[in-house]
Amino acid sequence: MNITFHGAARSVTGSRHELQFGNTRILLDCGLFQGRRQDSERFNRYLGFDPATIHAVLLSHAHIDHSGALPILTKGRFRGPVYMTKATQDLVEIMLEDSAKIQKADCTYLNKRGRRRERPGLAPLYTLLDVQAICRQFERMAYGKTFRVSPRIKAQFTDAGHILGSSSIWVQYAHKGESVSVLFSGDVGRYDMPILRDPQPSPPCDVLILESTYGDRIHDEDLETMRTKAESLVKHAIKHKSKIIVPAFAVGRTQELVMRIKELVQEKRIPQIPIYIDSPLASKATKIFRHHPECFDEETLKTFTSHKDIFGAKYIRYVESVQESQRLNTRPGPCVIIAASGMCEGGRIIHHLKHGIQNEKNIVAMVGFQAEHTLGRKLIEEWDMVPIFGRPTPRRAQIIRFNGLSAHGDRLDLLNYVHRLNPKPRKVFVVHGEERQSFSLAAALRTEYPNMEVIIPSLHSTHNL
Ligand SMILES: [Zn+2]
Repeated sequence: MNITFHGAARSVTGSRHELQFGNTRILLDCGLFQGRRQDSERFNRYLGFDPATIHAVLLSHAHIDHSGALPILTKGRFRGPVYMTKATQDLVEIMLEDSAKIQKADCTYLNKRGRRRERPGLAPLYTLLDVQAICRQFERMAYGKTFRVSPRIKAQFTDAGHILGSSSIWVQYAHKGESVSVLFSGDVGRYDMPILRDPQPSPPCDVLILESTYGDRIHDEDLETMRTKAESLVKHAIKHKSKIIVPAFAVGRTQELVMRIKELVQEKRIPQIPIYIDSPLASKATKIFRHHPECFDEETLKTFTSHKDIFGAKYIRYVESVQESQRLNTRPGPCVIIAASGMCEGGRIIHHLKHGIQNEKNIVAMVGFQAEHTLGRKLIEEWDMVPIFGRPTPRRAQIIRFNGLSAHGDRLDLLNYVHRLNPKPRKVFVVHGEERQSFSLAAALRTEYPNMEVIIPSLHSTHNL
């Protein structure tokens, strides 16, 4: 019985963990690496295991750094089931389609440039056909229901409160008096956030695989501070007829922002200025949100059942066509443009940054986690010159960070996640964090639980359970 970490080990993206029980291999997540283009290429082309040997995959949630490499499995002759919650299935289908389209467009663009420089051609990691193939292997499971993955292996999803459909995954192997239970936290959400329920308690386990995105940080910006900040940004935009550009994950963050802005308008703290949600993926995801009230918290459910449109208003426009998106480039402010991708690594946000970032009256509002080496990271580090489509571009727009808007729990939430497990796990693997975050969280766990073995695995390392 062992585990091998094929991604999100001393880094945040590319979540892929392989459990081996006897001859049965189970994969937890199969995500894409994101970061420097060359590194991503290398890590995404080499999975570190043979997909044909995997019995089943259990998926924690739809974010692409957890799900985006799934189609590569079918290309590698994986024919087993991929288990996930119902909402995750609906979301992951549109996410993977979108990912295939983005890869195709990126390759076409880069190959065109490459030809001029006589570089060898790039091919996408997978196509829409590969996406359709893996989607046929999806199996929907309800939260809290134990199901069999094989005669010796049981599993269960519990609500992780991170995005719609997100889960922690509990797996138990039992055979001839030998047994071990493993809990994979997935991405842990936060308490008292809009739309979704709080993270739910998971069954206890022998071994815990714990994320550590914010392992050394506390979300110290409270809601009221953020609301006041948002108010002054909107006033600034009105005064200068400028734009507020917001890179946001299409799934989760965008819907939360829409709800937060609507609240401010309803309370008359800000006037109605045009809000453009410029992401076809976000529009599709928003429709899926409306189909899954079973994932809502009480308050959202109440609004939903009273037939009020939770994600719409007169001044909110979901932009579909490329032409309409392009028109936004020349549209005068004030307005808010919310577009994906959240880390500015692709999608329509890049075009809005290209056209808006040189204007010192515009504001780029950063609301989510930014992995190392992404354009988003360079923006929060306030670089004066940033690469946009490979070209150095002067950054004159103001960068404003909203630290309290994360969909990830902070250090205290992560420690609380362990605190709620009783009895405590004997072993904890700290993953899904940059080294500083993982080491800091591991140190806190070792101090609090001296009998616990705490390991920060490195990439492709194998450990006994
Ligand atoms: Zn996530």
